Formats: sequence, C-alpha cells, structure tokens
Amino acid sequence: MSIRVIEGTVSRILPSVGDLDRPFWTGGRDGRLMIQRCSACRRWHHPPTADGCPECGGEMAFEAASGRGTVFTYTVNHQQFHPEVPPPYVIAIVELDEQPDLRLPTNLVDVDPDDLSCGMAVQVLFERSGDVYLPLFQPVSSDDPIESTESG
Ligand code: ZN
Repeated sequence: MSIRVIEGTVSRILPSVGDLDRPFWTGGRDGRLMIQRCSACRRWHHPPTADGCPECGGEMAFEAASGRGTVFTYTVNHQQFHPEVPPPYVIAIVELDEQPDLRLPTNLVDVDPDDLSCGMAVQVLFERSGDVYLPLFQPVSSDDPIESTESG
C-alpha cells in the first residue's frame, strides 16, 4: 500500500503538538499512522494518554497502525464558516480496522459526498503543513490489491 502525502492547500487550525502526541502528528513523514498501544494487553488507544493503559494500566507505546478503517459516521458541511475553507467538506469519525472502538475524528477527501456511506472502507493519507502531517482518509481505491477478488 502506498501512502499519499499531499501539501496543505487550505489554512488549517493546526494542532499544538506536544511530546505526548508528537508521534501521531508527525508519523505521516514516514507514511505511518502512529497510534498508542498497550505493551501488556495489546489494546490500541486514541487519543494518546500520558497515563497507563485504560484497560490494564500497562505501559503505552506508539505503533504503526495499518491506516485502514471504515467510516463510522460523518457529516457534510455546506456552510462556509471560514473564508479559506471552501465547502463542501466532510467531517467524519473513522473506526480503524485494528479494534472496534478505535476511532479518529478526521476529514474525508477525494470523495463525492453523495457517494459516502457509513461502513465505507477508507485508508489514511497525510496532509503536510510544516512539520505536522494531518491524518486524513480517502476511499479505498477499487484497484487496491487488498480488496478481495471474485473468482471466475
Ligand atoms: Zn493494557
């Protein structure tokens, strides 16, 4: 799977990157979606926590997730609230394939809002703005080899 990195074209309110969540915001430099994972029980967790694992108290460390997920829910914004952010744009919560409750708020790009549906398969791409690589998601392309092929 090739991970796309696109240059930011619209002004974004960039996250303030701290030591805690730096791997999440900069992993896109290496094409990797970095998510915290418990070294003991192996559960994933997002957003990053400075405490131990919420499940077992184990030590948390960042690991590269697959970048694959499905649209959990979404909304299409048609109202231009910010002068430099043209509508329509899609705000979504994506559930990563790694774990059923592992969800990220994000934007969906390269998709016609009319073609969206909950449960749609998506994959990560990154929008670079300076040192920050924002994880965005796009539909899984139909020619992607991970899609199951029909026999015959
Ligand atoms: Zn744990």
